[in-house]
Formats: sequence, structure tokens, C-alpha cells
Amino acid sequence: MSEHHYTTIDLPDIDRKSLPDCQVLIVDDEQSSRLVLSSIIDEFAQCHVVDDSSLVCQTCEDIRPDLILLDVNMPKKDGLTLCKELKSTANFADTPVIFVTGSADPHVQDNCWQAGGADFIEKPIVASTLVHRVKNALQNALRLSLLRELIFHDQLTELYNRYYLATEVPLLLKHAARDGDPFSVIMLDIDYFKGYNDTYGHIKGDACLKSVATAMNDNVKRPQDCVVRYGGEEFLVILPYTNRDGCISVGRELVEAVGSLAMTNSASPLGKVTVSAGFSACQPSQNTSIEQLIGEADKALFKAKSAGKNRLCG
Ligand SMILES: [Mg+2]
Repeated sequence: MSEHHYTTIDLPDIDRKSLPDCQVLIVDDEQSSRLVLSSIIDEFAQCHVVDDSSLVCQTCEDIRPDLILLDVNMPKKDGLTLCKELKSTANFADTPVIFVTGSADPHVQDNCWQAGGADFIEKPIVASTLVHRVKNALQNALRLSLLRELIFHDQLTELYNRYYLATEVPLLLKHAARDGDPFSVIMLDIDYFKGYNDTYGHIKGDACLKSVATAMNDNVKRPQDCVVRYGGEEFLVILPYTNRDGCISVGRELVEAVGSLAMTNSASPLGKVTVSAGFSACQPSQNTSIEQLIGEADKALFKAKSAGKNRLCG
């Protein structure tokens, strides 16, 4: 009988969050209800409590919850409206919401599902049901985020991959267009990389790609920004909410950061590994496509290459 041999794949060094690290946001206008919920959930996850529905969006930005427990009936803004709002944002569309409701009315239950709720829990709270529903929702969220990490990353550099670019980045662009926010893209290419590979071999070439990738990732810090491995030695930096000035500043930092690695490349007249970069910055409309922005950044990259490399052009 033949044995099966499986190729070992190096998985990216991803952040494997566990249940005790999970952040649960509890939103309820009644103090007794907040106390009951938080004292039970505190036993296995990190709790944050908010009593005023108008503070929820800012709190979400601050703590990035893995799960939200939302009271249906609240003054100012009710839970259903709040849930719909969160579901329409880029950052929290996928964050599971469990409604907490004192009403067993089928109409209210249906409204919870329609608003985008993942589940609901009835008041008075049954501790065991709360624990199991919350744990299930968190485990599902953790599994989903692990899966997303795995399918969206390039194995060698651990940067985002083309699949992420094709599936997720267009959504970021749509959100920016809808919110009237600027959007920028930088395309970078390692200078004289073919010469580097020919001189030092492909194993050193891979190590060079990794170092450049890490340098770029370290300089792109906001949560929505991302670095994509676009091709062999080509990278894309996606900068939502970033205008032309911001983009130029990030682009210059990236060119500088790679040069500062001071990795020898005898195939380059500069004697070291450098990158050229081209950018495209715009105020997107609903018709703006990511391909269009990449095309413009690519043209600008060509200008940077023609003008002597190791620089940023727009
Ligand atoms: Mg209430």
C-alpha cells in the first residue's frame, strides 16, 4: 500500500486569538441588565459596557469588539437601528450582534434577524444560555477570522495576496466612494531584482522579498491600510481615507524605509536594494474601479523607473 505524503505548508505567523482575548461590547440602558450580562461574560472574555447608544460607534472604533450584545429597547437610538448602522460600515459589517430583548413577540424576533442580528437572547437572562450563545458566536468569529487570515495572505511574505485585492479591496473603495472619502494606491517594485536573483540566487532573493515586505508593512500602520504582494517583486499599498498629500508622505517613507535596510545589491548602480514607486490618489465615485487606480499607479511607477529609480512619482 502506498503511503500518502503531504507537503508541509508554512502558514503565515498569524495572530491566533483565543476566547479570553475576545472583546465583548455590552450595550444596554438598564444598569441591572448591564451588571447581569457583564458579570457572566467577564468569566470568559473581556467585557466593555456602554449605557448610551449614541456612544456605540466611537466605542467600536476604540475597542474593535469581536461580538456586540445589543439591547433592543433603548432611548435615543434603539438597538435595531444601531445594528443596521453598524452593518453598513466597512469596519463592523462582519462583527456579530446578539440582541438582548425583553419581548418574546415574534414580530420583534423577526426584526432582530432583519436588522442583521446573528442571534438573540431573551430577558430575563438564563445564565447558561447566555454563556453558550456568546461562546458559540465568539468561536465562530474566531474560526472565520482564522480562515480569512489563511486565504488572504501570501505564503512567502505574509502580506495580503491577490485574492484579498480582488475580493476585499473593491469593498473598501465602495465604502470610501459612498462616504466621500479619498482613496490612494501606491505600486512599488524592487529595482534591479532580476540582477539580485541572478547574483545571489533565488533563496537570497526570497529573503530579500521578505525583508522588503516587512519594511513596508512596518510603515503602513492604520487598520484599513494594507500591503498586497501584487506579483513577483511588485507590491501594492492600499490607503483608504488617504488624500494625495498623505499618500505622498507614506510613499516617500516606504522608498526611504527600503533603502535604509542597506541590503547590498551589486547588480544595482546604487549598490543596495531600493524600490521605485508610483501612486494614484483620488476622490472615488461609485464608478471608480480598483483596476483603474492600479493602472494609474503603474504608469506613475514606470515614470519613477525611467527617472532613475529609488523614488516616488505620481
Ligand atoms: Mg433597554
